[in-house]
Amino acid sequence: MAAIELRGLTKVYPGGVKALDALDLAIPDGEFFALLGPSGCGKTTLLRTIAGLETASGGSVVIGERDVTALQPGARDVAMVFQDYALFPHMDVTDNIAYPLRIKKVAKAARHEKAAEVGARLGLDHLMDRRPGQLSGGQQQRVALARVMATQAQAYLFDEPLSNLDARLRLEARTFLKKLQRELGVTTVFVTHDQAEALAMADRMAVMESGHIRQIGTPAEVFQRPANTFVASFIGSTPMNLLDGVARGDTLEVAGCKVAVPVSAEGRVPDGTAIVYGVRPEYMTYSAEPADGAFGGKVAIVENLGASHLVTLDVGDVIVQAVVPEGSEPLVGDDGYALPRRDRALVYRDG
Ligand code: ADP
Ligand code: MG
Repeated sequence: MAAIELRGLTKVYPGGVKALDALDLAIPDGEFFALLGPSGCGKTTLLRTIAGLETASGGSVVIGERDVTALQPGARDVAMVFQDYALFPHMDVTDNIAYPLRIKKVAKAARHEKAAEVGARLGLDHLMDRRPGQLSGGQQQRVALARVMATQAQAYLFDEPLSNLDARLRLEARTFLKKLQRELGVTTVFVTHDQAEALAMADRMAVMESGHIRQIGTPAEVFQRPANTFVASFIGSTPMNLLDGVARGDTLEVAGCKVAVPVSAEGRVPDGTAIVYGVRPEYMTYSAEPADGAFGGKVAIVENLGASHLVTLDVGDVIVQAVVPEGSEPLVGDDGYALPRRDRALVYRDG
């Protein structure tokens, strides 16, 4: 097991696409690190460059004490799980799991023993003789994980390993994979485009955009204090309200309403500054009665979130959303007021 450190890592593909732009990243030994970002931002390239499947155009990859930048994939001692599992259709589960050991010339009895041990750990013991075509998607995914775990690498690299599972299996697999990683303590880089998955699983996470890391932190830090409007709009199961405004003395004028300067921005927004005001719908207090510092408007949409509702208010020519607890949701057309929490609202200057 080992820490992973990337220094100024750059990847330019033939044709000129700069998929990684001088990335710096340090992942401590044993951490479950999630890499989150929209399609095309460079996540797969980053994993493949760590694994040695792509050659870096600049910078270095250090795994443990070793600079592996110039080493072949086989010499890097990392194991990667791909999005499509890449199982061998003509091999049974045992041989699929044992395949990397066969490549390492481990004797048949020893590799079958290892496959049985890892398979049992992943609840595959009754399926060891089946071929991939005779397994469900969730079972195939576990075989792919087992194959990686049988190799005892210094680090695991997962490229959206849950994205082919249906919603319920995916939630189960999350919990399971997280627990397993804890038990094994192997440094893991987990790529996903699903913010909920990253928040749920990661010890720490990075949010990427077009070859750059826009923020690194714990899920709580990234959720509560997104560093910029890109991260703010990418994280959260309901999108953050991001509204243009301007500082007016000791208040902010946002969407035609006067709201208080958030605690985190006190003393930082001189009069007249153009800002973007950010507050999550979860951090609004909704009321049918006017309140000082609240956004007031007409209820345009009420969406059921299960134990709560997402209320969309038309406020002037923008919309403001608030999560409202079950039982107190308004009706479309009502007048409504959403009071942001001063300790949770944010002010951006990068809008
Ligand atoms: P992600 O995994 O976040 O969706 P990728 O790492 O696959 O992103 O791609 C990052 C960028 O690099 C994209 O613009 C993509 O089109 C480009 N790219 C990926 N692989 C290649 C390749 N083999 N040759 C040229 N461009 C590539
Ligand atoms: Mg990808």
